[in-house]
Amino acid sequence: MIQITMPLNFLGTVYREIRQSLVDMGEMFDLLEQPAEVSDKPDAKPLSVTEGRIELDAVAFGYEKERPILHGVSLEVPGGQTVAIVGASGSGKSTIGRLLFRFYDVNGGALRIDGQDVRDVTQESLHDAIGVVPQDTVLFNDTIRYNIAYGRDGASHSEIVEAARAAQIHDFIESLPEGYDTMVGERGLKLSGGEKQRVGIARTLLKNPPLLLLDEATSALDTETEQEIKGALARAGQGRTVITIAHRLSTIAEADQIIVLEQGVIKERGTHTELLDRGGRYAQLWQRQASDDDAAAA
Ligand code: ADP
Ligand code: MG
Repeated sequence: MIQITMPLNFLGTVYREIRQSLVDMGEMFDLLEQPAEVSDKPDAKPLSVTEGRIELDAVAFGYEKERPILHGVSLEVPGGQTVAIVGASGSGKSTIGRLLFRFYDVNGGALRIDGQDVRDVTQESLHDAIGVVPQDTVLFNDTIRYNIAYGRDGASHSEIVEAARAAQIHDFIESLPEGYDTMVGERGLKLSGGEKQRVGIARTLLKNPPLLLLDEATSALDTETEQEIKGALARAGQGRTVITIAHRLSTIAEADQIIVLEQGVIKERGTHTELLDRGGRYAQLWQRQASDDDAAAA
């Protein structure tokens, strides 16, 4: 019960947020398949990722001109570090992810990866460089091997196994009578939410992107699943720059940097300890969670 109520109460507006996040990720995948609203410049070059440093420089953006969503957001994520973005539903968290993919162009400021403005690089190279771990992994009616290999054409068996190991799903797969050849999906073996998510993580790991974007589910996970996913995500984040739209307290507390977004403005930034010491908005959210937690435990 505690595991279920904690993250939910932490940021509130439970079901709306779950639905919104799911829709967001669905949109992302649709968008990846569709011609984008933006197009490559004639002289666009492939993105060259060296350190994996992500920089938002006074980013201003609105889906409609008359309704700005982000108001000059500046953020620097050094290569290999993890930033957690927290904030109420509608504060603009997922929008930052969409801008990183350049699904839309900013209205002001710039967004750069290793110093290259995302508007100056080819979209193909940009999308190749960013892995998304969706909260709701779509499984095909095919083998589990196929479902992981979907992350990269022509992956060898040992590469698939390596990705599955890192995502902490290998042992589970091996325990199945037909192992990697087990049929999954609607007409095959039904996997639990946590298992599906780890297949999704394995898929992303196989793609081996230098940058990782996680739009975390607020959905209730049991303690064991939470631990497994946490371990898989920690492995996934190794040697990568990670932007995580965070709902899990464990992820938030361990991030190198936490951003509290409110109505498109960064209200606070720092580590978990720094923000708690500061006694501001984040500390307030944290304390509220702690008291909810006590209430749930009582
Ligand atoms: P969060 O992820 O923090 O919940 P979002 O970044 O998804 O918030 O959305 C921020 C704001 O932008 C919300 O007010 C939302 O309604 C609006 N918004 C999101 N997507 C679109 C869109 N495609 N068109 C117009 N407005 C949108
Ligand atoms: Mg969102």
